[in-house]
Amino acid sequence: MKQAHTLLKQYNLRHTDCREHIVDIFLQSTYALSHADVEEAIGDRHDRVTVYRTLRTFLDKGLIHRVLDDLSFPKYALCKAPCAVHEHHHAHVHFKCNQCGQTNCLEDVVIPTVVLPTGYRPAETNLLINGVCINCSV
Ligand SMILES: [Zn+2]
Ligand SMILES: [Zn+2]
Ligand SMILES: [Zn+2]
Repeated sequence: MKQAHTLLKQYNLRHTDCREHIVDIFLQSTYALSHADVEEAIGDRHDRVTVYRTLRTFLDKGLIHRVLDDLSFPKYALCKAPCAVHEHHHAHVHFKCNQCGQTNCLEDVVIPTVVLPTGYRPAETNLLINGVCINCSV
């Protein structure tokens, strides 16, 4: 729980039990989590609205980032390097495994720069690669 404490402090977030639990869940997970995943891990310790708001706050503060999946709902993962408030700087690849269904941040794999036609200003770049992850490819 100590690490969660430190992270909250680093992002100037007031400490609450719910926040600490959620940060902890992300710290312990090796893959990106959906809202439902977080709710399941939380159980009935906190109500849905609080969980929803907490995720929203974390997203705004730059503690977690959205991981686009091929599902209709987003997943979230911790930002390894602290992101600015309302401004995420991620250009890493996300990898979705077709076998275990988990999506991972490949922090060290940078998305190549895409040259856009004049007049187009990119705000966010997402690259999802599907395949078989390292855990499943034995
Ligand atoms: Zn971020
Ligand atoms: Zn896998
Ligand atoms: Zn990521």
